This record gives sequence, C-alpha cells and structure tokens, in this order.
Amino acid sequence: MNKLDKEYLKKKLTTDEYNVTQNRGTEAPFSGKYLNNKMNGIYSCICCGNELFSSHHKYNSHSGWPSFFDTINHQNIKSITDTSHGMSRTEVVCNNCHSHLGHVFNDGPEPTKTRYCINSLSLKFEDE
Ligand code: FE
Repeated sequence: MNKLDKEYLKKKLTTDEYNVTQNRGTEAPFSGKYLNNKMNGIYSCICCGNELFSSHHKYNSHSGWPSFFDTINHQNIKSITDTSHGMSRTEVVCNNCHSHLGHVFNDGPEPTKTRYCINSLSLKFEDE
C-alpha cells in the first residue's frame, strides 16, 4: 500500500474529491458525474491512476451511485469491514493508494451478484 502524501493530494484534488477519498466521505446520491455515464472506457482511481472498473461491468442499480458488478482486476481493490454509522458493511478501497472508493454489497446482478457502489468523486474516467 502506497499511501499518497496528503499535501500532494490536497493540491491535486478538489475539496469534495479529497473528503470522499481520504476521509471516507460519500457524495450525495444522484449527484455524481458518472452516475449516468454510458460511454465505453475505464474508471481509474482519481488519486493514483490504478485501473479499477470497466464500463462493461457498469449497470443501473437505481441506488444513486455508479454501480459495477465486477472489477477490472480483484487485486486492484481491497475490501475492509466497516462498522461505522451503526451498520456492518464492506468498504472498498484502492489497493494501491488506499483511497476510499465506496462499498460492496451482495445484491448485484448475475453473474456475480455483486454490487460495487462507488463514488464518482473517487474515479477518473477515460473513454476508449
Ligand atoms: Fe489509488
């Protein structure tokens, strides 16, 4: 894990991006810039550029956050048990720089039945 320098990230990121990725924030539902993005491409970690999700795994979960039923490579993402806010959830972070991405749930569609519920603010999209 290569935790990136806080001062570097404060300059690189917007205040909202910093709060979500470094302080486990959550963007308001239905506010994210990638919620309805249907272009083909790759979603990378906004902090370190690690490739995380593909448009091929994106779907509309109606949750208000960009949702994916799989990752590009499971080794690029780390899952952590999160018991904050009186809930037991599984947080997902970038496995390279440890930035907060969102949470993962087991109510996704076939074939994985997995729902990665991810903040747009944690991602940088590049179309193919
Ligand atoms: Fe990262």
